Amino acid sequence: MNYDRYLLDPGSVRRARGHRHRVDQSSSGAQIGNRPRLGTVLAVWAHPDDESFVAGGLLAAASDAGSRIVCLTATRGERGTADPARWHTSRLARTRTRELAAAQAVLGIDEQRWLPFEDGACHTIAPGHGMALVAQAIADVRPDTIVTFGPDGLTGHTDHQAVSRWTSHAWAARGSSARLLWAAITADTKRRMAKVESVAKAFYPGYPTVTPDHSVAIRLDLTGDLLDRKFSAIRAHATQSASLVHRMGEDGFRRWWATESYIDVGSGAAIAPHHRTSPLIRTIPSHRTRIQRDRLTSPWRNQCSTR
Ligand SMILES: [Zn+2]
Repeated sequence: MNYDRYLLDPGSVRRARGHRHRVDQSSSGAQIGNRPRLGTVLAVWAHPDDESFVAGGLLAAASDAGSRIVCLTATRGERGTADPARWHTSRLARTRTRELAAAQAVLGIDEQRWLPFEDGACHTIAPGHGMALVAQAIADVRPDTIVTFGPDGLTGHTDHQAVSRWTSHAWAARGSSARLLWAAITADTKRRMAKVESVAKAFYPGYPTVTPDHSVAIRLDLTGDLLDRKFSAIRAHATQSASLVHRMGEDGFRRWWATESYIDVGSGAAIAPHHRTSPLIRTIPSHRTRIQRDRLTSPWRNQCSTR
């Protein structure tokens, strides 16, 4: 997310536990126990650390449930520092790439792919170009679930907003049958995050936008092992998180992003045919948005609450 945090904290990485369940990746939507059927997941982000801050709980839980998880990141986050003397841009891209690898080990992400874009400049990329590259990834990975930012970019970052546009348009244009999830923030989460925003400075002015509770399909209120893993992954991104941990305190930092909410935009089949071929869709038509509610049952219920 590029919070301009840059203290190294290499001791924070906790390795993923060895209890992952693997399933045949060809068995689309495979389910273990009563866990959600996310199947193969393609997670599309703008910067190294977005996957952990925004969706670390969901990705770790999906990994535990046997999902193949592929992460696609648009930039290396090479401008994500306010202290270029300490984290020179020539090193920061490499450092953040290593941090991402460590975070992925914690979360159980199977594969990392990159787009070749410049940190902070995604909004300058021709929308059709960004969309085409994401569409290629969708074709290659054949995900059952795609997760990314909502159109607001969650924090209001223009890179996040561009990635959301590319991904949502690629999903619609391809008529992908994958389920598309947009990360969102509800009113109660916004209120809780507002209490630390003067320190955290995560959001641009006017953000986050609030998603009504009734539009949230999946909500995770993380506790226990999933919370531990999410924050271990975030702390693996030490260039972004270490000084925040120091300033917010361990407990405050853990609670900061402990809730994840997702809008279920639906399946590609819900998009009108004439939109599927257009690279210029500005929004997903709301009347075609299909909101679903996951029924998260044990053992997820120990970690998550349903809305
Ligand atoms: Zn970001």
